[in-house]
Amino acid sequence: MLIPKNSWLYAALSYSLWPLFYCVGLIGTYAAFQTQSPLLWFNVVYFSVVALIAIFERIMPYEQTWLKRDGETFNDIAHTLLTKGAVQIAAAIGASFPMLVAIVAQPVLSTSAHIWPSAWPLAIQVVLGLIIAEFGLYIAHRLAHEKLALWRFHALHHSVERLWVVNTGRFHVIDSLFKIALSQIPLYLLGAPLPVFLWISAVTAFTGLLTHCNVDVRTGPLDWVLSTPRLHRWHHSKELSEGNTNYGENLVLWDQILGTYFNPPRPSPVDIGISGKVAKSFLGQLAQPFSAKGVRQILGYAPKKSDEAGASSVAAKALAGDKVGDKD
Ligand SMILES: [Zn+2]
Ligand SMILES: [Zn+2]
Repeated sequence: MLIPKNSWLYAALSYSLWPLFYCVGLIGTYAAFQTQSPLLWFNVVYFSVVALIAIFERIMPYEQTWLKRDGETFNDIAHTLLTKGAVQIAAAIGASFPMLVAIVAQPVLSTSAHIWPSAWPLAIQVVLGLIIAEFGLYIAHRLAHEKLALWRFHALHHSVERLWVVNTGRFHVIDSLFKIALSQIPLYLLGAPLPVFLWISAVTAFTGLLTHCNVDVRTGPLDWVLSTPRLHRWHHSKELSEGNTNYGENLVLWDQILGTYFNPPRPSPVDIGISGKVAKSFLGQLAQPFSAKGVRQILGYAPKKSDEAGASSVAAKALAGDKVGDKD
């Protein structure tokens, strides 16, 4: 059943659904964090929002053809679980990469550990934490698009030809760990408390679900500040000039400041994907970036020497615009 596009109900829902889903997620998270089993209840809230989005994808899709199966659902879920599992196991044994680096670096920067404004209201601390974490996410994501050494992992996320709630977590585990390292190490070094990390993770989880959802939502002025489905569809465009934009994961603040914000006044694209190909199986997709043959398949062409040379360049060089040359 589809809601007729010209009905008042469709118009009302298209404006209210995005804030509604976001609020349900955040209020639910708040309630979950008050219980004795916060992780369990957070997951209940998370999967309830997934179910809600999945229903609305069927009754008011942004792109009808994206409802068709692409044979990638198993892989999407497997990559999501592997990434979430790896991160949680690493965190549980207290030896995740960012923590390890922070533990090594923190004595050197021991005075900075007291910089964090722990006395501020938690909500303000979370916003501050998000702005800092977003800078790391922005750099990691932009490098992943501009450096072959990283694009080979990130291409998996962009290889899908439809966007929907289930491919939100389709990231190569190396891609995810790199992003987490760059976004969380500064917070550890600054001495941010655990609730700030938990809330940033929660906000990122719900923003991610919403940026990939195939629901025809209208986000208006929210597009100037937050990473919305409309902005993220540009990011998934096959067109290189459209895809190498909107790197923000939750906020588009750093895109606005660093000149990669993109939101022209026309419908965002439905022709998404990459020019190369990723392996068919889950294990094949995990292994593909590690072989020269696999990278050639991902790119759809043989990498040039200059592409490889760019791989070890520093962020500053990347920000100067040294593009790998594939799609976004
Ligand atoms: Zn990307
Ligand atoms: Zn995406």
